[in-house]
Amino acid sequence: MTDQKSAGDSATYWVDFHCHLDLYPDPVATAVAANDKRVRTLAVTTTPRAWPHEREMFAHLEFIRLALGLHPELVAERASEIALWERYLDQTRYVGEVGLDGRRGARGSLPQQRAVFQRVLDVCAERGGKILTVHSAGIPADVVQTIVRHLPPDRGRVVLHWFVGSKSTTAQAVEHGCFFSLNAAMLQSETARKTLSYIPRDRILTETDGPFTKRDGRPAMPVDIPDTVGQLAAFFEMKSNELAIQVRTNLKLLLS
Ligand SMILES: [Zn+2]
Repeated sequence: MTDQKSAGDSATYWVDFHCHLDLYPDPVATAVAANDKRVRTLAVTTTPRAWPHEREMFAHLEFIRLALGLHPELVAERASEIALWERYLDQTRYVGEVGLDGRRGARGSLPQQRAVFQRVLDVCAERGGKILTVHSAGIPADVVQTIVRHLPPDRGRVVLHWFVGSKSTTAQAVEHGCFFSLNAAMLQSETARKTLSYIPRDRILTETDGPFTKRDGRPAMPVDIPDTVGQLAAFFEMKSNELAIQVRTNLKLLLS
């Protein structure tokens, strides 16, 4: 039996901890395919206004979980939806996509982004038990420091998604108990590969960030995760099966 097969047999599952299911042409079909392949998928959302509809769309699927988000790139127009976000928060354990974006294009709204992100972290700390998937493009150190200041590790857990940071910033995140969801596109960047080498294996989760990443020229989907695991395993010099098991162990720990 090959690594792939033994990792994919019916007793096991895969993990896509950051996917924008709502942005595919057919979100339900994409989710059903993920469900059939036993890919435990965290469907992130970008605006609280869409929450009730999305909840209904995926509620019947055993392997799909839905995260309540307010995407940093949308904060410029939608900062006021933070009230709605707070109202829906008790309906889920998962929060995201939230965070800060310091890249050109989004930088102008950083003051509003900071206010929203700090509010998200403070409310999560207050209510307790939440798991957050966090965006940190362009300003990883800033994001990690904000998390350290606003969300104590015993009040909520953070998964840094597509995180590309320095050795010391990564160490600070690890010290604070953060996990990291990694995708195959990260392997294309020398800087990201460096960050990957700083991340301890017991903090690794997998993601597609679909449809924003590509596979064979089309948007990546949760069902592509076995391939993501294969590529990441090669980078970490592990067997695919070994990494698949490690990811499941890590997810269990995160959820415990
Ligand atoms: Zn995303």
